[in-house]
Amino acid sequence: MKQSKMLIHTLREVPRDADVISQQLMMRAGMIQKLAAGIYDYLPLAFRSIRKFEEIVREELAKDGCQELLMPTVQPAELWQESGRWTFYGKELLRFKDRKDAGFCLGPTHEEVITDIVRRNVSSYKQLPMNLFQIQTKFRDEIRPRFGLMRGREFIMKDAYSFDVDDAAADRSYWAMFNAYQRIFARLGVKFRHVEADSGAIGGSFTHEFHVLAGSGEDAILSCDACDYCSNVEKTEAPRIPAVDHGPAMALRPAHFQTPGILAMEEQARAFKDAEHDGLPLHQTSKVYWMTAEVPGQGADTRRLAVAVVLRGDHEMNQVKVKNALGALELAPMEDAEDFTGALSGFLGPVPRPGTRLAELQRTHPEGLAYLVDLALEGANNLTCGANVTDGHHFGFDPKRDLPGARFIDLRLAQEGDLCPRCGKGHYQPFRGIEVGQVFKLGTKYSKSMNCVYLDEHGKENPMVMGCYGIGITRTVAAAIEQNYDADGIVWPWPIAPFQVHLLDLDPANAMVREVADRAERELEAAGFEVLHDDREGLSPGAKFKDADLLGFPLRVMVGSKGLKDGVVELKDRRTKALVKVVPEALVAEVAAARDRIMAELAVQGGR
Ligand code: ATP
Ligand code: MG
Repeated sequence: MKQSKMLIHTLREVPRDADVISQQLMMRAGMIQKLAAGIYDYLPLAFRSIRKFEEIVREELAKDGCQELLMPTVQPAELWQESGRWTFYGKELLRFKDRKDAGFCLGPTHEEVITDIVRRNVSSYKQLPMNLFQIQTKFRDEIRPRFGLMRGREFIMKDAYSFDVDDAAADRSYWAMFNAYQRIFARLGVKFRHVEADSGAIGGSFTHEFHVLAGSGEDAILSCDACDYCSNVEKTEAPRIPAVDHGPAMALRPAHFQTPGILAMEEQARAFKDAEHDGLPLHQTSKVYWMTAEVPGQGADTRRLAVAVVLRGDHEMNQVKVKNALGALELAPMEDAEDFTGALSGFLGPVPRPGTRLAELQRTHPEGLAYLVDLALEGANNLTCGANVTDGHHFGFDPKRDLPGARFIDLRLAQEGDLCPRCGKGHYQPFRGIEVGQVFKLGTKYSKSMNCVYLDEHGKENPMVMGCYGIGITRTVAAAIEQNYDADGIVWPWPIAPFQVHLLDLDPANAMVREVADRAERELEAAGFEVLHDDREGLSPGAKFKDADLLGFPLRVMVGSKGLKDGVVELKDRRTKALVKVVPEALVAEVAAARDRIMAELAVQGGR
């Protein structure tokens, strides 16, 4: 392929609104172009990588008998009303009306449509298991589209859905997909991890995410250094810490400590002084996060809860754990917590002070108030807590005694160095990852609400047990770049490089150079390599090198008049920068050897 004819417009400058490396490099390399916030053109170079990754996905899914189909992007509201998600799916669902005033949305995912397809076409246990997938454009009206292809509003996803007769069969489908994902990301040649992830509050469900490891990743992952346990920090189990013994239980001493104007937890702890104490250790303090939760009520109704989340002073809250503990649809910090509790921020506490809205709520509608206390405080006493009086802290706080009806549950964010509760030997190590795929056992959530049933061998009707499995195709291509680049540009993993060989004609005005370069292009292509031939005239070798570095194809062949005087062309490895001189006749063999070496290294690296 001649570069002079290809739609590639490279940029020297970093585009102003590009905030991560993959976005900067893809824009600079002329791969993508922004059309609107979170909506990009995939130009020919990007599209080649996208297609290549799609083919890897197709090949691996075919091995498990998955069938490809294509569903519409535009979906009728009725289907979403049937599943109940028309109400619960937030603003990411872009809704609109057609000319007849009928409601529609752009599909952010396809559980409803696929469930409808299967219920209309599958009726017997003999047809199951079935796994259907598509590679298709999704739309999610993300609140903050950013990072180029990593968090777009429009993006390409592979989504697969499995249908089984029962739980055990659904588990087999789940693990088959899990293994297919392992193969897919290993073939891609990137470092990745599969991590246990949060499955929300759906009963009978569980899930793993696949993450490409990269410093810029949005997700924090904790991985045990001794066993296989690896999970998204949203989900990571915090090790059980026994309550620290703070001596014989004392009564609650209201507003015992005064720390005027001191807001930071550590400084407050140092300032907690009385006749017997000259400051207290952080683990003898507690803190409260006042939250507002939206929980399911009667039918489609929801109800609001004021929630106090109480943790040890040196621990952080894990919002996902709190959300799951409540089965909440929404959870957010309480906006008017100061007015509600009667004190300024820094002195909020869990124990109601008479005359406040909190005390009133507790008296009149106790069902609208929930106390959640982290397990590390189970059995703890003689703690401090905010007094709900500005500047004051109670002393002698005992959550079990002072917060009747409180639930004790794991609510804290696990952290680096925590003892792994799974093996009891290793400690958590932190990584950052980009979620590129997720496998999810759904259970019967959709098959029950949408009546997707089959007849078993006794003629009895049962709901199918489902799984859903996504891979962000465009996000994965960007994530591969986040992990593989250097100061000069992209360093493509071979399997998804737009081209494998960049052939630079350094002197197109020279007939001999042109002839050798043309021949090299023909021979390499005949040998099965994808070659981009930079035949552009009027550009210095330096400018061509810069573009080649930026585009980052794995191998570069340079044909110039100087080399040809010595009878050689040059072959350079983009990753290692190793350079060899070869006679033109040996070029194809040398490129093939380089490919084999690169692929062998990938096989070792894949997944590490
Ligand atoms: P995230 O937590 O990053 O918002 P998600 O968990 O909501 O993603 P899924 O519903 O699991 O996403 O979708 C399957 C895959 O689609 C994700 O693993 C991810 O690779 C990709 N994906 C999701 N949202 C986006 C987006 N806004 N832009 C690009 N890819 C996305
Ligand atoms: Mg996900």
